[in-house]
Amino acid sequence: MASRIKLLPEGLINRIAAGEVVERPASVLKELIENSLDAGADRLEIDVEAGGKKLVRVADNGCGLNREELFLCLERHATSKLDAQSDLTSIETLGFRGEALPSIASVSRLSITSCADEKAGGFRVRVEGGRVQGLEPAPANRGTIVEVRDLFFNVPARRKFLKTEATETGRLLEAAQRYALGRAGLRLRLGDGRRTLLAVDERHDQAARAALLLGRETAGDLRPFELQRGDLRVWGWLGSPSSAQKNSGNLFVYVLGRPVRDRLLTKAVLEGYGRTLDAGRWPAGLVFLE
Ligand code: ADP
Ligand code: MG
Repeated sequence: MASRIKLLPEGLINRIAAGEVVERPASVLKELIENSLDAGADRLEIDVEAGGKKLVRVADNGCGLNREELFLCLERHATSKLDAQSDLTSIETLGFRGEALPSIASVSRLSITSCADEKAGGFRVRVEGGRVQGLEPAPANRGTIVEVRDLFFNVPARRKFLKTEATETGRLLEAAQRYALGRAGLRLRLGDGRRTLLAVDERHDQAARAALLLGRETAGDLRPFELQRGDLRVWGWLGSPSSAQKNSGNLFVYVLGRPVRDRLLTKAVLEGYGRTLDAGRWPAGLVFLE
């Protein structure tokens, strides 16, 4: 039977997009952290429950959203980070496609409480499986709290695909660590309802963060480097070949402040070591490319 071409309804489009943006609780956390940083926040309070399957909440002290923006941010391709004149080759924000919030909202119970202007007060919007349930005034300090509950409650096939609570918590922690390591001025706390899993504040410089997150021994072995070639600057800290380990878990690469996992960049770091590094070994390090 010949099938006819049809335009898909918005809700289905969002759930398809969610498949690309949202794989697991850690990918939700990554999107929320990046939004907070793009909003100029330097304080993040993160709470997770049941490996993020029950709850991922990020509270920030960024610029906040006003009443209209609370609706708008849930629309696809709604972003404050680009406009018609923007040059796609010079983006300095972490996000810009305007897809994360509508995608996450379509596969969870989401609420955003935000205040952009303390005189106007705060507002909260609640969305369930992509349907806006309501918008009401809510007490709030300047900044934003995004709460994502029951991820994939309406997509059981994806929910089943999630790993154990401990594994998902581990991935949430790794995601938070990448940002905590990459920005010296950032204050960040991650808790799972019982314990604090990670806490850094402005008193921790990058060396202290590395010591906290990679362990004293690994961090103590790191040496600073810096190189400028034309517009390109690469700098950071790298560990000695003799303390390289059998996986790349201690090697963190950032492009314009954004943590990236990219084979080509990792390979470039390994090639920089030349033959001093045995095959199948990865050094510890923080590499910033600007
Ligand atoms: P993108 O980050 O690609 O613009 P998102 O769907 O992640 O798309 O977010 C949509 C918009 O919502 C952002 O452009 C921003 O204006 C606003 N926004 C999202 N999170 C926050 C936040 N924590 N604080 C202030 N504004 C936010
Ligand atoms: Mg975003």
